[in-house]
Amino acid sequence: MLNLNTFIKYVEKRNPNEPEFLQAVIEVLEDLIPYINEYHPEFEGLKILERLTEPERVISFRVAWLDDDNQIQVNRGYRVQMNSAIGPYKGGLRFAPSVNLSVLKFLAFEQVFKNSLTSLPIGGGKGGADFDPKGKSDNEIMRFCQSFMTELYRHIGADTDVPAGDIGVGGREIGYLFGQYKRIQNNFTGVLTGKGVNWGGSYIRPEATGYGLLYFVGCIYDSINENLEGKTVAISGAGNVAYFAAEKAISLGARVITISNSSGTLYDKEGLTLEKLSFINTLGRDLNKFTKKYKTATFHPGEKPWQFKCDIALPCATENELNEADAKKLIKNGCKCVAEGANMPSTAEAVKVFLKAKVFFGPGKAANAGGVAVSGLEMSQNSIGQQWSASKVDGRLKNIMENIHKTCVRYGKEEGGYINYLKGANIGGFIKVAEAMKSQGV
Ligand code: GLU
Repeated sequence: MLNLNTFIKYVEKRNPNEPEFLQAVIEVLEDLIPYINEYHPEFEGLKILERLTEPERVISFRVAWLDDDNQIQVNRGYRVQMNSAIGPYKGGLRFAPSVNLSVLKFLAFEQVFKNSLTSLPIGGGKGGADFDPKGKSDNEIMRFCQSFMTELYRHIGADTDVPAGDIGVGGREIGYLFGQYKRIQNNFTGVLTGKGVNWGGSYIRPEATGYGLLYFVGCIYDSINENLEGKTVAISGAGNVAYFAAEKAISLGARVITISNSSGTLYDKEGLTLEKLSFINTLGRDLNKFTKKYKTATFHPGEKPWQFKCDIALPCATENELNEADAKKLIKNGCKCVAEGANMPSTAEAVKVFLKAKVFFGPGKAANAGGVAVSGLEMSQNSIGQQWSASKVDGRLKNIMENIHKTCVRYGKEEGGYINYLKGANIGGFIKVAEAMKSQGV
C-alpha cells in the first residue's frame, strides 16, 4: 500500500528547495494515492509515481546575447522534458525573472496531466529562461530569442518536443524563435505552436485558453441547468488569457467587473463591454488611464480583484496569486465558482478553502487546457499540411472542453453528488499516462 506521507517525504528528499514543484506534486498525490491503492495496486510495484515525479530529461543551458548598448548579457535557459508516454513533449516557454527549475518542473508536471486530459496524443514539458522581457527593445527580444533557440534547437522537433508560448512569450517571440530554428535546420516544420496564421499557425490559438476556460465554466453551469447570463465575473490578469476570457464571458452575457496587472486592479461596477475591452488593450500597463475615460470604473493600486463581490472568479495571472485569505473573502461574498485560467494560481490553502466550501473549483490543468488543446490541433494541421477554418477549430475546442468536463465529473463525483473537479482532473489525467507507461515497460 502506498502511503501519502512516506511518498511526500521521498519527493521532498529528492527535490530539495523546489517549493513550487512540491506543491504541484502533493496536490496530485492527495488524490492519486487513495485511488491507486483502491483500483490499481499494481502501479506501486511498477513505480509509476516515482517515475512520474522524475523528469525524463532536464536541459539547462547558457543564453548569452548582446543588448542595445553592445554589452554582453547572460541568462539561463531550460527545457524540462517531463513525460513522453502518450506523445511528444508539449508545453510552453516562459520568459520571466522568476523562472527557475522548481517553477518549470511544476509547470511541466501539471502539463502532463493537462495534455492527457485533452485526449490528444501529447506528452508534457515546459521550458523558458530567467530573462525579463520588460523594458527590452524589440531588437533585444529578437537577439535573445535567437540565442535561446541556437541552443534549444538540438533538443526539440515536430515529433520530439514542441514548445509554445507562456508568460513573456507571445506571437512575436514565437516568430523569432521559429525563424531561428528554420535558419539553422533548413526545415519548415511544426516544431513550435502559436505560430502566425500565415505561416503555419492555427486560427483561434491566441483565443484558445480564454475561450476554453469559459466553455469549461459553461459546462459547469449547464450541469446545474443554469447559464452565464447576468453572472458577475472577476478576472485577474490582463494578458492573453484574461483578455479572451473576458471577451468570451461578455459575449455569453456575463458581467465582467475586473481585470488586473501587477500594479493593481481595474474595477468597473457596470461591467466591461467589448468596446471597453479593446480600449484596455491599447493602454499597455497603464490600466489607471481607463478611469479617465470611463467614470464608472475605479483603479485600486496594489490590490487584487478578490475583494469584489462576484459569482465567478477567474484567476488568469500567475501561480499562487490567490491565497487563503482571498479565498475566504470570495466565499464570504457569495462566489460559487472558481476556474483557473493560469497554472496553479490558487495556493494549496486556498484550494482547501474552496473544496471545503463545496464551490465549483476548476483547476488549471482542466480549465485552462484549451490553449494546449488548440496547440495540439495546430500540430495536426501542420502534419497534414492543411489549415482549418476558425469555426472548425473553435468547434473542436468546445468539444474538447466538454469532454474534459465529462472526465472530471466521471472521476470526481463524491458522496452526496459534489463534483470535486480537482480530483477528477488529477485521476482522469493520470490514468491514461500511467497505463501507457505500464504498456511501454521500463
Ligand atoms: N503555456 C500554455 C499552457 O500552460 C500552452 C502550452 C502549449 O500550447 O503548448 O498550457
